[in-house]
Amino acid sequence: MQQYFVDVILPIPVEKQFTYRVSEEEFGVIQPGMRLAVPFGTSKIYTALACTLHQNPPLLYEAKSIHEILDESPVVTAKQLQLWFWIADYYMCSPGEVFRAALPGTLLLESETIVLRNDDFQASEATLQDDEWLVYEALQHQPILKVTEVSSILDKKNTLPVLKRLLEKGVVRVKEEIQEQYRPKLVRFIRVAPRYSEDEALKELLDDLERAKKQKEVLLSLFSLSATTKKPIKLKELQETTGASAAVIKSLTAKGILDDYYLQTDRVTYSGKAVEETRELNTYQEKALGEVREHFRDKDVTLLYGVTSSGKTEIYVKLIEETLARGRQVLYLLPEIALTSQLIHRLQNYFGEQVSVYHSKYSNNERVEVWNNLLQNSQKTRIVLGARSAVFLPFTDLGLVIVDEEHEVSFKQFDPAPRYHARDVAVVLSSLHGAKTLLGSATPSVESSYNAKTEKYGLVGLTRRYGDVLLPEMELVDIKEKYRKKKMKGHFSDRLIEEIGESLSEGEQVILFQNRRGYAPVMECNTCGHTPQCPSCDVSLTYHRIRKQLRCHYCGYHMALPESCVACGSSDLDTRGFGTEQVEEELREIFPQARTGRMDSDTTRGKYGYEKIITAFEQQEIDVLVGTQMLTKGLDFRNVRLVGVMNADNLLNYPDFRAFERSFQLILQVAGRAGRTEKRGKVLIQTYNPYHQILQQASMNKYGDMLTDQLNDRKQFLYPPFYRLIKISLRHRNYHTVQEGANWFSGALRSHFDIPGWKRDYILGPESPSIGRIRNLYIKDILIKIPPSQNLKKVKNGIARVHKSFSAIAAYRSVRVSFDVDCY
Ligand code: ADP
Ligand code: ZN
Ligand code: ZN
Repeated sequence: MQQYFVDVILPIPVEKQFTYRVSEEEFGVIQPGMRLAVPFGTSKIYTALACTLHQNPPLLYEAKSIHEILDESPVVTAKQLQLWFWIADYYMCSPGEVFRAALPGTLLLESETIVLRNDDFQASEATLQDDEWLVYEALQHQPILKVTEVSSILDKKNTLPVLKRLLEKGVVRVKEEIQEQYRPKLVRFIRVAPRYSEDEALKELLDDLERAKKQKEVLLSLFSLSATTKKPIKLKELQETTGASAAVIKSLTAKGILDDYYLQTDRVTYSGKAVEETRELNTYQEKALGEVREHFRDKDVTLLYGVTSSGKTEIYVKLIEETLARGRQVLYLLPEIALTSQLIHRLQNYFGEQVSVYHSKYSNNERVEVWNNLLQNSQKTRIVLGARSAVFLPFTDLGLVIVDEEHEVSFKQFDPAPRYHARDVAVVLSSLHGAKTLLGSATPSVESSYNAKTEKYGLVGLTRRYGDVLLPEMELVDIKEKYRKKKMKGHFSDRLIEEIGESLSEGEQVILFQNRRGYAPVMECNTCGHTPQCPSCDVSLTYHRIRKQLRCHYCGYHMALPESCVACGSSDLDTRGFGTEQVEEELREIFPQARTGRMDSDTTRGKYGYEKIITAFEQQEIDVLVGTQMLTKGLDFRNVRLVGVMNADNLLNYPDFRAFERSFQLILQVAGRAGRTEKRGKVLIQTYNPYHQILQQASMNKYGDMLTDQLNDRKQFLYPPFYRLIKISLRHRNYHTVQEGANWFSGALRSHFDIPGWKRDYILGPESPSIGRIRNLYIKDILIKIPPSQNLKKVKNGIARVHKSFSAIAAYRSVRVSFDVDCY
């Protein structure tokens, strides 16, 4: 008798694919990339992904039958599967982990999924089938149901198809889908129509309005308002100052004398058409574009090294245009935090509806929509602008991948698996499609520059800012000296205060950068020196003044601010170090009249968190913006003249082989926010070490020197790009277990790699990381440095072999082991 089977990927961390039995009929219907509901273990049901159809029964177990086919056509393409297997293999994780990370939650129903009632559901209950109605009914009585509960309601094991239909009909939602609460309003602005910007035209207009007194009055008020505030005027403001009725303003807009427009920041779905022609490039941009094209002839990847504000984005735009003209798709990757509405709008202005956005702050529905549009090769997803997870999307014909700010750490996913680097995955994705990849940065990562240096990648430079705006002037302020001479107010040096004062009096804006959120990182007892610690992690709790709490940034633990020391009872408590909150507070004391704002991950939660603050700053409702690294990201503010780095030393003192490279990048990136228009910007860097080589290089924008130094160091100390790194982390509740396990593991690695070409110092550890315990699990890390002479695949196989023997030892079975390939 003929038997039929399908191998599937389950969304769980198991190494192998599982084989399920299917009927002959199902065999004819199932295609790789379709979802199947399958039973697993004794009671679980998972959404699995069909990979291979065959007729060979598994040797070691009796194949179970699938429950049901969930799709009529594949939701995952062959190319995606190919990429996901590559990721699993390269980053040493299971295909299931990649599958889980790749699919938006609604496409991945499983037994533990939580189902909620959708209060927006309006349609008549009559459209529901019997089983659907039962679930609907149950949700009228209780707000949430687990999928397993749905099972018992329906008295049916496999509920996924019913839930899928309910989701599609909008009757229910699943947990991850809960929408953001905040919906910013549109703000209506008003301005004089551009054609009256010439004096002549204006004079004529005013003469014309001689008889319409009210209208003329409004117009004149608008002029004086704009002249005094030098910023966009809200309709409401105009009405309030002039007392003009809506009718008067309406007739002015109707005549085309005034233009009203909306500035809004939330809306990402865009209904309008492209409203702007792409810009004409200047000669430097034109030249760079030509060089990029030239490199693309014989190289798949090119690095565009262009200083901040040199007009890289406009070059991308030209390449996008060319790619669209050839009928192919574009992926535009950005670090999550740089994904601002500024850029979204800029691209939508050029490309209208063809732009879609994909990132983790979007709801499941929005993400599924992008997914489906891509599958159908829809016009709406010709260009996908996304954060790192966009590399998982079902592109059908990708022609160009742009990775902007390619040096950014947030392209790397550290936890959970897959621990991938989206830039590197993008290069692979691109080559699967025969597409080209452009990496862009003002401060390229050492590894990308090295790839360019060794001619693996093309390299194109753009060293002038657009419009020949000068790069800001950088000044290092020695705060050790300032403290000694008593020239510090809190954390502000006299120089910084002076420059802020000057900027404010000129009506210019200021950005202050402090690489730490919260008020002050820790609270310390002045009597006994005790610092409150997180009970589950080996880390001090961070003091948050506004919430009057101590919080753990690793696990979310928090407690009310203690009034006395828990160790000695003394009430003499103090804070040590300083964060963004404290900078803002001191600033308010020194400049009480200035309007201040703060941007860090505490103030920017939720989908629109950034936008609220960015818009307020853009519209000059904030004079001084204090923030963490988020501020470094590709934002284009017109009126910022001064950027202050409160303390450069805590960047340098990071225990990481990339600390210097990162400091250089951060400083230049924040500096890049200053003086983006004609007037030259200024950057003040406060530090205890003004002669530190990296600060010197950063302040003179000596990228090449930095690169040479860093490459020398990396070579000498056996780091990337010369050696590859794999980090193995072991975790366990019990310290001794993890300690012994890690010793065993590293010992086994050392004997396994006791081969020609390996040295003992290629394997480091085990060591406790700087935070040695997180969520009650103790951690030990082993670092492997792989010399260029070794075959990476073989090394990984060796590690996997050691892991296998390790897992076979009963005492270590409960130790969690994870791998991080290119762990930086
Ligand atoms: P980068 O991406 O290198 O930081 P942008 O592309 O954001 O630089 O350009 C900086 C500024 O210069 C932007 O405000 C942009 O609109 C302007 N700009 C760049 N190129 C042109 C051009 N060819 N024509 C007009 N304006 C341009
Ligand atoms: Zn104490
Ligand atoms: Zn904690």
